[in-house]
Amino acid sequence: MKFDYDLFVIGGGSGGVRAARIAASEYGARVGLAEESRMGGTCVIRGCVPKKLMIFASQAGAAAAESRGYGWQGAGEGRFDWAEFHGKLGRELDRLEGAYTSGLVNAGVEVHMQRARLHDAHTVELADGQRLSAKHILIAVGGRPQRPDIPGKELGLISDDLFTLGQLPGRVLVVGGGFIACEFATILQGLGSATVLAYRGDAVLRGFDGEMRRHVTEQLRAIGVDVRLGTNPARLDREGAGVRVSFEDDSSEIFDAVMFATGRAPYTKGLGLEEAGVRLGRKGEIAVDEWSQSSVPSIFAVGDVTDRVNLTPVAIREGHSFADTVFGARPRKVDHRLVASAVYTRPHELATIGLTEEEAEAWGPADIFVASFRPMRSLFAGSDARAVMKLVVDAETDKVLGCHIFGPEAGEMIQMVAVPMGMGATKADFDAAIAVHPTLAEELVTMRKPARRVGAANMDKPAASA
Ligand code: NDP
Repeated sequence: MKFDYDLFVIGGGSGGVRAARIAASEYGARVGLAEESRMGGTCVIRGCVPKKLMIFASQAGAAAAESRGYGWQGAGEGRFDWAEFHGKLGRELDRLEGAYTSGLVNAGVEVHMQRARLHDAHTVELADGQRLSAKHILIAVGGRPQRPDIPGKELGLISDDLFTLGQLPGRVLVVGGGFIACEFATILQGLGSATVLAYRGDAVLRGFDGEMRRHVTEQLRAIGVDVRLGTNPARLDREGAGVRVSFEDDSSEIFDAVMFATGRAPYTKGLGLEEAGVRLGRKGEIAVDEWSQSSVPSIFAVGDVTDRVNLTPVAIREGHSFADTVFGARPRKVDHRLVASAVYTRPHELATIGLTEEEAEAWGPADIFVASFRPMRSLFAGSDARAVMKLVVDAETDKVLGCHIFGPEAGEMIQMVAVPMGMGATKADFDAAIAVHPTLAEELVTMRKPARRVGAANMDKPAASA
């Protein structure tokens, strides 16, 4: 049977664009791609990229304060101009979107800027009614922010809205305690909004190392975010120009804006997946095997829509591996076990890879090495902010199983730690590296004695230590 395309990709985000580009340019496949919104997807348009630029903007005030500690008189006495920043941000996103589109076009991909849905196992239907056939279809539509199911939820903003605000709220409530809540609380506070973070748990960032979670919670408070633990909104009501938030403990308060950062869900609704026989999981995610293949052999899926590890570089790797496997005859699976990530908070970032202390304790025995100190740079400027670095080491094999860093440029450091850890490095390998002095990262290779040993002997080692 003759198809219109060898591959049709639904979704022009990180995973879909990479798969389309590699299939077309490296392997000569005839590729079509549909995107209903803007090319670049969540990461480029309403996620990682604009978020990081907003983090830089929010850090600038703290940097000015630090420079005063170094003798620069009057630094930071101006005010932040949201309109100017926002206009510049918009132009940068336009530039990036253009680069994504031209990358695809130059690779020979036919781009359709409209919504597409599945018609059957080999056919997609575009919003204008056109039907296009393809030997393979890749779903890479990502996820969407979720609001909690409470009365008045539509009065709350989601992360997408933060990039298009006309003005910054004077007083804002951020709901949630995950990546997005912590990062946006940091941004909003840093740009001048009085920020309250309400989280239902007992320390932000569930799933991260416990000691680090407690430290990030404290440090968010130290920069001025009003972190309220064990707190959750029960309803929202419009009151004047603001929003009255009634909490589960019956208290209530008015905010200029409320932002829900209460998780994201796969964007699978209305795509015609179930009708085409594609099996979905409990959260609506597309169930795929290790080759990103769905229950329908011609249909594959990569990125957040599969709800595996919801990070841009993972989606990119999945998209690339899919193209190599299906079009390049180079079968490649993605190893999801040892993925580093970073949360861009202030005063420092939190970056992490591998097992937490709690996970190690469950499998043990593991030695926990910890360095906690005030970095020279901020200390001199008069800040009490502490950096914490932690290595989780298999007490039997000496293998480094986990690394957690709360410190300046922690994201940059963890990227490099990922290399030796991926190679199975031991603590002795770390120690063999001669320190670069004076740096923060030297702490990672100069931790002499464990702070404690956790966990009992257990023959079933966790996947990360395999
Ligand atoms: P997360 O899953 O990280 O956090 C969701 C938060 O919302 C949790 O604190 C959760 O609480 C809370 N929550 C969920 N449902 C409710 C509810 N009904 N009422 C109150 N609170 C609720 O999601 P995010 O939206 O922060 O981020 C989504 C994903 O995006 C991340 O998992 C990450 O993979 C990715 N991301 C990565 C970034 C990075 O790499 N720097 C930055 C931003 C996003 P509880 O913990 O109690 O369940």
